Amino acid sequence: MTGGAGFLGSHLIDRLLERGDEVVCVDNLFTGAKRNIEHLHSNPRFEFMRHDVCFPLYVEVDEIYNLACPASPIHYQHDPVQTTKTSVIGAINMLGLAKRLKCKIFQASTSEVYGDPHVHPQTEDYWGNVNPIGIRSCYDEGKRCAETLFFDYHRQLGLEVKVARIFNTYGPRMHPADGRVVSNFIMQALRDEPITMYGDGSQTRSFCYRDDLVEGFLRLMDTAPDVAGPVNIGNPNEFTIRELAELVIGLTGSRSTLDYRPLPQDDPMQRQPNIAVARDKLGWEPKVQLREGLERTIEYFRDFVN
Ligand code: NAD
Ligand code: UDP
Ligand code: UDP
Repeated sequence: MTGGAGFLGSHLIDRLLERGDEVVCVDNLFTGAKRNIEHLHSNPRFEFMRHDVCFPLYVEVDEIYNLACPASPIHYQHDPVQTTKTSVIGAINMLGLAKRLKCKIFQASTSEVYGDPHVHPQTEDYWGNVNPIGIRSCYDEGKRCAETLFFDYHRQLGLEVKVARIFNTYGPRMHPADGRVVSNFIMQALRDEPITMYGDGSQTRSFCYRDDLVEGFLRLMDTAPDVAGPVNIGNPNEFTIRELAELVIGLTGSRSTLDYRPLPQDDPMQRQPNIAVARDKLGWEPKVQLREGLERTIEYFRDFVN
């Protein structure tokens, strides 16, 4: 697995080890953290390799999960050229590895391929509305190009691919300073600091709890070879960012007030997955709703306050 020391990857590794698999975690620790995987080092079926996926990788494995890529805007905009390289060259290297090993390969794609969408909720057949030269493009276009590569290796070389389009996901092990809305709001609320609301807070997102998401990954990987995706994986319950702030303030009992800031360039106004394909092909739908997932995430973040 690439990106295995990150928020989602480390959970996926936990699930794979629980069911008896052996896991090689390949990560350059750019946004990942050793603390996310330190509980695994005594496990003989776990191996960590510090490696940047922009360079070729020669290992022997039975299947590949490709998750390596910074996911939060402040992280992927920190070195945008590296972000595109990670998505595109990383995909080429992992697809080359899968081709040599004749093994199936999973890609962590994103709802960002839909950009600021004109179709709502987003279905997999919508081609998206993405600015190719904006500040989010390194991530959005990098992931779009990676999808192109996955489907060309699939058509041209018969590789078995599994492409998931992940919608906003949150939960324990999110980086507390990753700048994403859930981590920012919880940390600010726990510290009684002002909640940074970008724009008027009327933009929407649909938040999926990480356990639901990882279950969707495993089910997609287990589908028949003709199911290549892309498949939306996310929670269709949509909230405005203002509603999220109010919920976080309520659940933490915080004295925080709202601090309105400018909306960043190209910030999508709405986002909600249509998960009909996931329901049909994976028999999957999310189980954990926002209030319950936030309560668990708030408990995790309490350790980072002070
Ligand atoms: P994360 O930043 O916690 O994890 C990404 C991991 O990739 C980190 O451990 C990082 O060190 C590693 N990485 C980055 N560049 C690398 C490189 N060049 N070589 C090797 N490792 C590298 O993010 P996450 O939330 O766990 O996201 C995992 C995947 O899911 C990413 O591909 C992301 O684009 C995708 N995704 C996540 C979300 C979400 O809401 N969390 C939404 C859509 C898509
Ligand atoms: N690659 C890799 N590990 C492997 C096999 C290939 O990292 O086990 C890389 C290799 O460096 C190449 C890329 O994957 O740049 C794409 O491989 P592919 O075989 O598709 O292309 P080619 O080598 O023919 O250019
Ligand atoms: N956002 C916000 N305050 C913050 C962080 C984010 O209002 O402190 C907004 C952001 O402008 C966006 C939404 O919350 O409209 C989700 O942002 P995030 O970075 O979590 O994810 P993405 O934009 O990639 O979906």
